[in-house]
Amino acid sequence: MQKVGIFRSIHVKFVLIYVLLIIMAMQIIGLYFAKGLEQTLKTNFTTSVVDHMNLVEFSVREEMIKERTADDPSLIKSLETVLSGFSPGDINEIRVINSKNLVLATSLDNQSMVGQKSMDDIIRRSNTSEAPDEHIYLDQRTRTRVLVLTAPIISGEEVIGTLYVESNIEKVFKQMDEINQILAGGTAISLTITIIIGIFIAQTMTRPIADMRRQAQAMARGNFSGKVRVYGNDEIGQLAIAFNHLTNRLQESQATTEGERRKLASVLENMTDGVIATDRKGRVILINDAALLMLRMTQDLVLNRPISAILGVETEYTFEDLTEMKDSLVLDFSTRERPYVLRASFSVTQKNTGFVNGLIAVLHDNTEQEKIDMERREFVSNVSHELRTPLTTMRSYLEALADGAWKDSEIAPSFLHVTQTETERMIRLVNDLLKLSRMDSRDYDLNKEWAEFNYFFNLIIDRFEFSKSRNVHFRRHLPSEELFVEIDTDKMTQVLDNIISNALKYSPDGGEVNFGVTVFDKYIQVMISDDGMGIPMENVKRIFDRFYRAERARSRAMGGTGLGLAIAREMIQAHGGEIWAESEEGKGTIIFFTLPFEPQEDGEWD
Ligand code: ATP
Ligand code: MG
Repeated sequence: MQKVGIFRSIHVKFVLIYVLLIIMAMQIIGLYFAKGLEQTLKTNFTTSVVDHMNLVEFSVREEMIKERTADDPSLIKSLETVLSGFSPGDINEIRVINSKNLVLATSLDNQSMVGQKSMDDIIRRSNTSEAPDEHIYLDQRTRTRVLVLTAPIISGEEVIGTLYVESNIEKVFKQMDEINQILAGGTAISLTITIIIGIFIAQTMTRPIADMRRQAQAMARGNFSGKVRVYGNDEIGQLAIAFNHLTNRLQESQATTEGERRKLASVLENMTDGVIATDRKGRVILINDAALLMLRMTQDLVLNRPISAILGVETEYTFEDLTEMKDSLVLDFSTRERPYVLRASFSVTQKNTGFVNGLIAVLHDNTEQEKIDMERREFVSNVSHELRTPLTTMRSYLEALADGAWKDSEIAPSFLHVTQTETERMIRLVNDLLKLSRMDSRDYDLNKEWAEFNYFFNLIIDRFEFSKSRNVHFRRHLPSEELFVEIDTDKMTQVLDNIISNALKYSPDGGEVNFGVTVFDKYIQVMISDDGMGIPMENVKRIFDRFYRAERARSRAMGGTGLGLAIAREMIQAHGGEIWAESEEGKGTIIFFTLPFEPQEDGEWD
């Protein structure tokens, strides 16, 4: 938070303005007041002195124009008497000077100046101007201000002398000083009071502003909970109300934005498709977890890098190419072990003006789809191949027959026999395919019934034992206890038929086929082994795939289509079991499968 310097704060500014205004007002008032008062006091003082003076002047004039007789005391003596008759009061000295500037009398005790010539300008001027005069000057001796008044003594038309009065006016100035001091004191007191009041008034104005400032700073930090107090209904009060309103609106829009952001984030995070967003230069600014997982990257590896590099297409496409791309782009990250294909679709984000803002890429894992497509293509090619072989065989035999072989009683039956077996083979193949397709579309029901597995298994093995054309020994390792399982006996017969016929087909003469059943906790495990040619290790898993035959030519020669184990696997899985094989080339093969089984409590069937 930025601090406001003390002299910059509104608070101090307010108080300073108050103080300056008060000082100015007091100064102007004081000046006028002091000047007026001084004038009045001086005038009053002068008037009282002049009144005295007039009285003295009258007496002095009388004495000066008096006809002197012998028994009369001299003029000087009588003037002295006149002057001494006045009480001094504020008057320091009264002096009488004749027209020749000679001092005739003084009210001072010191009479030495009597008879002396007065050198004062003011007296000379008075003697000649016939007008009274006044003058204030500083008495150098007493360091006080004195008022000197002169008035000509006029007899008829002629100036016969001058009356000189010196009075102590210092009192008036002292009074003025006191009044000025009172004024200054008043100013100081009023200033102190104004400052205190000013501080409070300023506070009432600045407090709401300070509140708003604090609230604005809190808002900048994302805290909208505070409210500014409204102190009144003046402009600042209304500003505070408007400010609170603004806070509410901001909080609401912040909440909406935050909600939208969270919604968007959760949508992005919960999407199974990957989403990548870029800025207008094609650098990644947002990527969701699904996209990171698909690209096997981390957030910091991806952010701010060009999208074409992230998708690994920087050599083929520029960012502009991607923005103009209408169809989706297939990204093949497959390795030899694992197919991995992503499909990326692009859409451009634009402003209203049409200005490209960025690009959004949606990634979809297309591996499964691609795998299914591949399997489908392979399946179709397998089926057509499987059908074409018997058909071409049949065509050539039928051609031969049509060309005249039908007449030959030796060849014709054997040729017809071949076409018959080929037709049977095709029927078998089509039947197997139908079976598989029905299982794929799941529109079949298992006809389950309870059967004792040992009995059921023995019957099938017996059937093979009686009808077998080759010298192969059968060995049974079946448990003595009764094993009741719930199975579709028809389907289970097909499974066992296929496994056993495979074992017989691939066993050498004099070989041995073993049959075993082991009971486990929740299931029974069936085992059929032979000591035939076996299957190469890397192909063991694949024998359950459709159309898979370890050695195509030889297997076909043995009449197989490669669908038997695929059907067996579907059926076992439909029963809730599993099927797998173990084999060693040249040593033999073991096929295992399991079936769910629950050991019966004693007496349950009684
Ligand atoms: P079909 O069973 O449809 O008549 P098939 O026997 O060739 O034809 P599957 O039963 O699915 O097809 O078997 C697939 C392939 O697995 C066989 O072609 C064979 O190569 C191999 N195979 C299966 N069982 C054995 C076994 N016991 N010993 C050796 N190879 C086997
Ligand atoms: Mg088979």
